[in-house]
Amino acid sequence: VVFKMSCFRFAPSPNGYLHAGHLYSARLNAEMAMARGGTLLLRIEDIDITRCRPHFEAAIIADLAKAGINFTGEVRRQSEHFSFYAAKIEELNARGLLYRSYETRTGRKNENYALKLDMQKALAIVSKPLFWLEKGERIEAKPELWGDVTLARKEIPTSYHVSVVLDDAMQGITHVVRGEDLYEQTHIHVLLQALFNLPTPAYHHHGLIVDAEGEKLSKSKGAARVSL
Ligand code: GLU
Repeated sequence: VVFKMSCFRFAPSPNGYLHAGHLYSARLNAEMAMARGGTLLLRIEDIDITRCRPHFEAAIIADLAKAGINFTGEVRRQSEHFSFYAAKIEELNARGLLYRSYETRTGRKNENYALKLDMQKALAIVSKPLFWLEKGERIEAKPELWGDVTLARKEIPTSYHVSVVLDDAMQGITHVVRGEDLYEQTHIHVLLQALFNLPTPAYHHHGLIVDAEGEKLSKSKGAARVSL
């Protein structure tokens, strides 16, 4: 019997301060890692270089430390791995699974293309059943719900989907604990894991902290920085 140590991660994007929803997620990860005698790693998801800022990253790291959440090992910063993501995307391209789209959301032509996954071709080459374990329950992945997803853009040569899937594998993550706003994205992540021949971790999508109006906390709506 091979015993695989449980490995969790917290993966904030430094495009704002840590709010109560992030702190809840980080604490849940820390508790679950502790309960399993596993480790918790920190990843900074800063591929969106137009919105991420070093001072937000520093503030997030300081707030997590103040909250008493301890991480093992080195911080993985996605902006340091653009060439790795680009190489993996090129692998998919070489397999004929990607195409360039110059269309914008409004249907107008754009000079900055998006690299999209040909969903039909991708589904045709995966032979194993696509599923993930959600809180122990088997969920069938239906990536076709998303159609041809964008995996990279001319300006940013990767995407959340590609980077998160590759990094979960690079960091040996066995358990992904994150907000339920990312539940539907898991359909794509499971497909990408199959295409890249990577293991699928177990998933636990948790409820979101809401404000007095019942809206989920978000940086874009100016949720307050946690006070510690
Ligand atoms: N970076 C994402 C966020 O800040 C989290 C991604 C994930 O946990 O998969 O919402």
